[in-house]
Amino acid sequence: MRRMFIAGNWKMHTDRVSAVALAESLADQSTSLGHVDLAICPPFVYLDAVARAIAGSELAVGAQNMYHEDSGAYTGEVSAAMLLDVGCKYVILGHSERRHLLGETDEMVNRKLLAAHRAGLAPIVCVGELLEQREAGQTLEVIRTQFEGSLAGLSDEQMARTVIAYEPVWAIGTGKVATPDQAQEVHADLRKIIAGRYNEQLAEKVVIQYGGSVKPDNAAELLGRPDIDGALVGGAALKAESFLGIVAGAKA
Ligand code: PEP
Repeated sequence: MRRMFIAGNWKMHTDRVSAVALAESLADQSTSLGHVDLAICPPFVYLDAVARAIAGSELAVGAQNMYHEDSGAYTGEVSAAMLLDVGCKYVILGHSERRHLLGETDEMVNRKLLAAHRAGLAPIVCVGELLEQREAGQTLEVIRTQFEGSLAGLSDEQMARTVIAYEPVWAIGTGKVATPDQAQEVHADLRKIIAGRYNEQLAEKVVIQYGGSVKPDNAAELLGRPDIDGALVGGAALKAESFLGIVAGAKA
């Protein structure tokens, strides 16, 4: 049986003091999580402080991005090894803000994904359609293209260790959440795509999160769907109460 996985993407929010305080508060209150895995993804510069603050707790730390090279003259970039060195377990790759605001392509995401696996980081790869693509009936085609480009070249073992986050772009930070049926449909399609490329057993192992305006009041219904294995949470991850409200939905 797949475990539930809830991850908080803090984006470019918090400062050193508030990041550590939020991490400590979450660590204190996240006990007996049972079948739920929990991670928080602060900005790069606070990763070290946050990882120290939650050491020994049930929480894990993830980064929001990385570069695909191991080291070298890449000013401003951060490698997978550096993330591991400061205590990261996860890395978010191909978030829609990176794809659409910063020009990240499937090919770039794929290079990062392969580098993350080589280093031993657990990647969370985001895919999702724009509103006009959904309205034009292109959702499945967009998801398939992103999957084939961003997740190319993975071994069976690497695919099983890759978390996919389905994040419809129109639902991110907008308050417009996909209905449980809309999300379930795409998650089931993703699992079929994985089964087609690999096999059914492997497809059943892959954790697929939903992301896009998940809040405590909609979490349980979304997470109750058979192919929705957790959530990637933005805005509601910035307050312990709302993040833990979502976790409660996963435990329900
Ligand atoms: C996200 O940043 O991945 C996200 C889903 O944001 P929000 O929960 O704020 O929509």
